[in-house]
Amino acid sequence: MTVRAVSLDLDDTLWPVLPALIEAEHCVNRWLREHHPDVAEAWPIEAMRELREKIAQENTHLSHDFSAQRRLTIRHAFAACGIDDAPVDEVWRIYFAARNAVELYPDTLPALERIAARVPLVSISNGNADLEVIGLHHLFHTRLNASGVGVAKPHPQIFLAAAEALGLAPADILHVGDDPLLDVLGAREAGMKTVWLNRTGERWSHGPAPDYEFPDMTHLADWIDASLARDS
Ligand SMILES: [Mg+2]
Repeated sequence: MTVRAVSLDLDDTLWPVLPALIEAEHCVNRWLREHHPDVAEAWPIEAMRELREKIAQENTHLSHDFSAQRRLTIRHAFAACGIDDAPVDEVWRIYFAARNAVELYPDTLPALERIAARVPLVSISNGNADLEVIGLHHLFHTRLNASGVGVAKPHPQIFLAAAEALGLAPADILHVGDDPLLDVLGAREAGMKTVWLNRTGERWSHGPAPDYEFPDMTHLADWIDASLARDS
């Protein structure tokens, strides 16, 4: 294929997400202990996590919107302590800032700069990472997430929204992500070419293999350079 654009997953593709999510929970917990100790006592981190899972299960209409799930969780946690006007915005701001304080994989930034110099980049994420807060937004032509589009990966519609934003056919776009089902199967279903970014050296066990598999973003950037040189 001639790569005319690249769409990218974010969490666990460009940075490890779990450390940021755990730190975000701790930041919220520290703030609650200081400002609402009764709420902090009623909802330690583990209980708050279970509450969020319960809220996600009970509100399937929010399955594409993790931010809305978390805001509802905050509201419920406070209401259970008899506080109806929960400081949702304030707690959310604390969570959001910490959730976006991610540490990029060392290969991410140099590779993104190389790729963005060759073809347009689009982000496609189910999460609520904010590329502007993270400081990478200048490298992206378009940024899409599930809450904005209204459906989550692997739904084809979110991939087709990327193609539409680029004015390209899905077959001209290479989608890159770590998740076999959400990224590789989803993008393939939408007609894109697929890259499985397999940082952990797992074996593929999800049916037809991805079009390409790379261990990190450097290998992807090398492959794109070689591929464009071949086609020019
Ligand atoms: Mg991911």
